[in-house]
Amino acid sequence: MRNFTYIRATSLEDAVQGIQDHPQATVIAGGTNLIDRLKGYLEPSSHLIDISRLQMQQIESLSQGGLRIGALASNTAVADHPIIRRDYPLLSRAILSGASQQIRNVATVGGNLLQRTRCPYFSDPAFPCNKRHPGSGCSASTGINRLHAIFGASDHCVAVHPSDFCVALAALDAVVEAQGLSGKREIPITEFHRLPGNTPEQDTNLQPGELITSVILPPLVFAKSGVYLKLRDRTSYSFALVSVATAMEVRDHQIQAVRIALGGVAHKPWRAVAAEQFLRNKPATVDSFKQASELALQEAKPLEHNGFKIEMAKRAIERALMASVQTGGQE
Ligand SMILES: Cc1cc2nc3c(=O)[nH]c(=O)nc-3n(C[C@H](O)[C@H](O)[C@H](O)COP(=O)(O)OP(=O)(O)OC[C@H]3O[C@@H](n4cnc5c(N)ncnc54)[C@H](O)[C@@H]3O)c2cc1C
Repeated sequence: MRNFTYIRATSLEDAVQGIQDHPQATVIAGGTNLIDRLKGYLEPSSHLIDISRLQMQQIESLSQGGLRIGALASNTAVADHPIIRRDYPLLSRAILSGASQQIRNVATVGGNLLQRTRCPYFSDPAFPCNKRHPGSGCSASTGINRLHAIFGASDHCVAVHPSDFCVALAALDAVVEAQGLSGKREIPITEFHRLPGNTPEQDTNLQPGELITSVILPPLVFAKSGVYLKLRDRTSYSFALVSVATAMEVRDHQIQAVRIALGGVAHKPWRAVAAEQFLRNKPATVDSFKQASELALQEAKPLEHNGFKIEMAKRAIERALMASVQTGGQE
């Protein structure tokens, strides 16, 4: 493991200033991803600023509806929160589908948003990787790329974002609140993570020195119909090959509103916008869901070993939409 210095931040301002003052600084929250990266020589930071004791654990209802979840709320606290379980069940299910109880007890909201890809070539310093060493090449694009992207990849990177939580956040149109030296700003979740382009070393649009302070869940009545379906090689302790978060509002058998987000398919959680548009004002039937799933995968570009993800994603979308109708979308 690389040597590093460690300090514990006493305030948010202190942490933000600390990042500015040390070019090699990074913050540590639960440490479940960062420490692994340090051990694997994947992380260049040599100065850790511990933010875990700052007061950002709260989950609070907002006067205009919705919830604000503090960046240091643990994954377990979010998944178990009674309002989240009642009003945003897909978020709770997405979290519970990931990692283990012990990891979720320590892992935080901010850390989950910023966890790095599980591309095996990124994790193995023996292989070139543009995300780890910009300009060195992408081993996955010509290597074993079964786990990789079918949407939005570039010649420089075909990695996928590993989070389950973020897929549910994308379906819910959540907003990330961040704080930097120049103040606070809000970033819609669908603009928070980025596609690799020719700078795959950047996972997100967070500016250097900015910290995540919270995530806003807007009020969304039909989120109660939300479903999270995760397909993977093992049924526990495994990242998604493909996952789907859906929520739907159905009135008089017609779909009024629908959200579909996919995980395991791109460098960011992937909203199936064309499929959502197609489904509006259509009957909530198997046939509609089948057509929507075809549309959702129309632009997919498989790599040598991951063509199976296309059929898998289509079937997952159909199953999740059907489950959304059965679990509350139907009035
Ligand atoms: C064995 C294992 C299995 C897992 N399985 C899954 C899974 O199936 N699905 C899934 O979604 N996740 C999974 N995870 C990932 C897990 O959810 C993340 O490791 C965890 O959420 C990271 O949170 P943390 O607080 O520990 O982050 P840390 O490790 O402390 O930090 C991660 C990154 O986020 C940055 N960071 C943290 N907080 C902030 C903040 N507030 N502002 C700015 N930057 C910040 C850190 O600098 C660091 O770069 C798994 C992890 C492990 C170890």
